[in-house]
Amino acid sequence: MNPKEEKEARAVIKKIVLLNALRYGGKASPKPVFGKLLGEHPQFRQKIKDVSAIIDEVVQEINELSLEQQKAIVAEKWPEALTEEKTEETKQLPPLPNAKKYKKVVTRFSPNPDFVLHLGSARAIILSHDYAKMYNGQFLLRFEDTDSKTKKPKLEFYDAVREDLKWLGCSWDKEFIQSDRLQTYYEYAEEIIRKGGAYVCTCEREVFQEKSKTGKPCPCRMLSVEESLLRWNRMLDGTYSEGEAVVRVKTDLGHPNPAVRDWPALRIIDSEKYPHPRVGSRYRVWPLYNFSTGVDDHLMGITHIIRGKEHLTNQARQEYMYRHFGWEYPETIHYGRLKITGASLSKSEIVKGMNSGLYTSWDDPRLATLAALKRRGITAEAIHSLIVDVGPKPQDVVLSWKNLYAYNRKLIDPDARRYFFVSTPVRLSVKNVPREFMAQVPLHPDHPERGFRKFEVNPVKGKADFLISRDDLELVEGKRAVRFMDLFNFRVEKVEDDVVQAVFLGESYEEAKKLGAPLIHWIPVGSGVACEVVMPDASVAEGVAEDACRELKPNEIVQFQRFGFVRVDAVDEKLVAYFAHR
Ligand SMILES: [Zn+2]
Repeated sequence: MNPKEEKEARAVIKKIVLLNALRYGGKASPKPVFGKLLGEHPQFRQKIKDVSAIIDEVVQEINELSLEQQKAIVAEKWPEALTEEKTEETKQLPPLPNAKKYKKVVTRFSPNPDFVLHLGSARAIILSHDYAKMYNGQFLLRFEDTDSKTKKPKLEFYDAVREDLKWLGCSWDKEFIQSDRLQTYYEYAEEIIRKGGAYVCTCEREVFQEKSKTGKPCPCRMLSVEESLLRWNRMLDGTYSEGEAVVRVKTDLGHPNPAVRDWPALRIIDSEKYPHPRVGSRYRVWPLYNFSTGVDDHLMGITHIIRGKEHLTNQARQEYMYRHFGWEYPETIHYGRLKITGASLSKSEIVKGMNSGLYTSWDDPRLATLAALKRRGITAEAIHSLIVDVGPKPQDVVLSWKNLYAYNRKLIDPDARRYFFVSTPVRLSVKNVPREFMAQVPLHPDHPERGFRKFEVNPVKGKADFLISRDDLELVEGKRAVRFMDLFNFRVEKVEDDVVQAVFLGESYEEAKKLGAPLIHWIPVGSGVACEVVMPDASVAEGVAEDACRELKPNEIVQFQRFGFVRVDAVDEKLVAYFAHR
């Protein structure tokens, strides 16, 4: 490096070091500075030794300053950098309403374990969890499994939900399962009847609805508390069968929404016909959603309910019940719908696809289930950032896969190691190769300090054979020159059925640049490991991955250069990976 270059390098490095120091409480460290420098100023990649010495010096010099002195320098020289740094921080959630009113903020996530969790559920989980943590409160997991008839829970999903929460990094402080709490619901059912806030209705559903539509009470509503309690006991002891009686919570019969009027709170399920997966046929009277949820939110001390705005009607229903009991309704935040274009988040569609055999598992790459995203190498952190950035706003939000990929790429790109994967390989034979080559390709282009992959090219009588992707044929045919990444330049002479004939041109990268040579990846024939990549549309890209991939472990996320980021799924005779995104 000449003195002028060194001066320039020093100035650039000083800024990066200072910003790094500010971010870490006044102490910069050389490694991230090195990475950032080469990432932002690739011209220094040729001068690694020189810049690394300068970095060490500058880091030492800056770390001797106090944080205030560092700040002062940045404020004077690069005031815009201070605001840049701020916007890079993760967004904070807006404050919860009335959080101070409560001794401890308590939130909950309450799934019905009848289905796997998907990107839509992640919002309720992450917001509820993060708000509890933000206020040093508690986050509860409550399985709402009280409908063994139309939304039948399945044992496998209790654990699947727990797994998904752990994967998302949202651990819970307490867990409840509603099917363990039937006695509690019975007690409160009796109490609300005693208080005159509910009654047992034995009308045919249509008859009740006819009356309710016009705001008229059914005859059961006028019965005495004693008579209602008698009927309640007949529900419990089996006198009534399924469909013959239901507990209704009294509301304003003139409520603008007929679905709110005297809503059903508990009902009878023929439990021989519809046994519950956990408690079998032990109970015949089951609470409906609004009753068990409403009772539990109060008993469990939930202070803030964070859920989708489709629950607004439920809140209207539950508030009547809370009034009868003399309870105070928790604070609520109702967020808008989150739609991902091109992803099916609809349970019925996914179930239909599972039943028809279109999808073979819950983590089929075409689905937006958390299990599928995880398998594809979409990180929990990416989902977390996306959800926090969207926040709990009431407006509907439409995102695309691209948005999620952008979050993920930002997180995995700095760490993912690079490898060559040749899909649908085609043989390419280069003649006139003057010598043997030992190619060294960095594991990460911005971090040469992380090491290299090595490839041996041993020409026989000047001829060396390679594998290239069929997709690259179009790119190389008829070009004046093509460059094999980190190896040499060649020109294609003839594309035959089983082999592409090429001739060696030279080694110079500068020369390749001058000739506008496309840069392609390659694998020497006779090396590499068979590899298949499962694509987001469930198709499979077959090919060969370079030898170094034999060392990969399941769950690692790497980049197949010029192909995309993938998550390693299995390493055996064959390497199996799932495609994340470009
Ligand atoms: Zn009735």
